[in-house]
Amino acid sequence: MLKCDFCGAETDFVVRVVIDKDYDRLTVRHEKRYACRACSEKKEKERQERTKASVQKAK
Ligand SMILES: [Zn+2]
Repeated sequence: MLKCDFCGAETDFVVRVVIDKDYDRLTVRHEKRYACRACSEKKEKERQERTKASVQKAK
């Protein structure tokens, strides 16, 4: 069993999440975490939101 670093749930399915560079500066460099299915989907959505926001800023 592996443990999700975000919600703490024990699960057989984990995704290795590499925190984005911009995010890194606020926390730890080269941070890698394990996320369960629900958390990985949430992180993916957050990443897409950030990408959208930066695209809009660039215009
Ligand atoms: Zn989780």
